[in-house]
Amino acid sequence: MSSALETLRRDFGGDIVEPGGAEYESASRTLLASGHPAHVLRPGSVRDVQAAVRFAASAGLLLSVRGGGHGFPGFGTNDGGVVIDLSQLANAELIDKERHLVRIGGGATWGQVAAALTPHGLAISSGDTKSVGVGGLTLTGGIGWKVRKHGLALDNVAAAEVVTASGEVVRASVAENPELFWAIRGGGGNFGIVTAFEFAAHPTTDVFFGKIAFAASEAATVLQGWAEYLRTAPAELTSTADVANPFRGPGAPIEIYVAFDGDDPELAAQAIDPIRRLGAVTGDDIALQPYADTLADGAPPPPGLQFALRSAFASQESVPEMLQILAEVRASERSPFIAVRSVGGAVSRVPDGATAYVHRQAELMVVTTSASPKPVVEAARPALEAIWARLAPHVNGAYANFLSSATAEDVAAIYPTEVYNRLAAVKRQYDPANLFAGNHNVQPH
Ligand SMILES: Cc1cc2nc3c(=O)[nH]c(=O)nc-3n(C[C@H](O)[C@H](O)[C@H](O)COP(=O)(O)OP(=O)(O)OC[C@H]3O[C@@H](n4cnc5c(N)ncnc54)[C@H](O)[C@@H]3O)c2cc1C
Repeated sequence: MSSALETLRRDFGGDIVEPGGAEYESASRTLLASGHPAHVLRPGSVRDVQAAVRFAASAGLLLSVRGGGHGFPGFGTNDGGVVIDLSQLANAELIDKERHLVRIGGGATWGQVAAALTPHGLAISSGDTKSVGVGGLTLTGGIGWKVRKHGLALDNVAAAEVVTASGEVVRASVAENPELFWAIRGGGGNFGIVTAFEFAAHPTTDVFFGKIAFAASEAATVLQGWAEYLRTAPAELTSTADVANPFRGPGAPIEIYVAFDGDDPELAAQAIDPIRRLGAVTGDDIALQPYADTLADGAPPPPGLQFALRSAFASQESVPEMLQILAEVRASERSPFIAVRSVGGAVSRVPDGATAYVHRQAELMVVTTSASPKPVVEAARPALEAIWARLAPHVNGAYANFLSSATAEDVAAIYPTEVYNRLAAVKRQYDPANLFAGNHNVQPH
């Protein structure tokens, strides 16, 4: 046994799962990726995380960090290396009632958070799915049903406890290690393992949530009217348009999801009715419900499906052209899933340089998803490229959480040069040997 492994077995109190072990098959996989790691380590404490990081560094093995295991590029596993699976660090507790401060373990899922906060009448602006991890979603953004009112998940982080590449535990906040605090709010898992986040949660009531459907023939007018309305809509309203669904074909309805962050029926109707008036409504299931119930469960997809996701942002002047293209593309048999999410609102009120997430001036985000067996995804690639070539003059950047690849181009789309250079300086300080490389990687040099 190597001395690194001996030290690990001495210092690490969590589970160690290795090939041949009973749990190995499930422990080696994430939701969307399979791998054959040499060691899956499940720390039960911060000390365990420190021991695991020191082991990975001294053994010279590839390292993957896994939060909720929902990352599209499959960063949460590898072949032959070490996986640090944070799922045992999933505590969520209210630590300051007055300020609604909540401490959440780095391996919690949003479903666990919602279950812990609902009894306190609190919620955190996050994503739309229970099984997604707090770690991966927050460290690069967090666009969910409260985004226009309360910003990204990362905008609500007050502090974080981080185990850096040397195995040291540091605290990051506005007052402590402020550059690290800036970097982890957008820079992903590049700088260390967040063992706990402190979030400022917001009081929540039940919310009005559901979807309004319009016939496919109204796609262009509904989408344009929707985007225009969102410019003046109350911040309580967050909305997503499901533009295309290949499983239902070009005749699929346009479905506008709305979440109104409040339980006053009159205010909700005032906010939502302008959307209902955009065309002839063919379905409307909006209802008052607990915020936690708006989150989907996130069931694993059928085996054999490959996911290819791309995303980009559109600022106000580009929105009409982008939506026109999407309305045309959706009519094709080869369209991927296309969704457009409203951002803006509270996201755009955070100053540009305040965090490493920089796409603050965008009004909308477009996401295309191909989900099919690999040969089908490959065969559809030229059609997908053609769609993105048409969109290119009207969109910019990329949302790291909705990318299935991690090329140099992707990294450049997520981080403009100035931001990348600032992140690289933080990387040099906290991870000079690039131990945390399994991510949209910022290189230390
Ligand atoms: C079904 C589904 C629904 C989604 N819905 C939304 C949505 O509504 N809004 C949205 O913004 N995104 C959404 N996403 C995207 C999601 O935010 C990303 O996939 C995210 O990476 C998932 O985080 P995770 O912790 O579950 O994933 P993982 O694969 O475990 O983590 C991804 C990477 O994040 C880093 N990481 C995770 N936890 C930590 C930690 N504690 N410390 C340091 N690094 C860490 C690591 O580099 C890790 O490899 C969705 C994804 C899926 C599959």
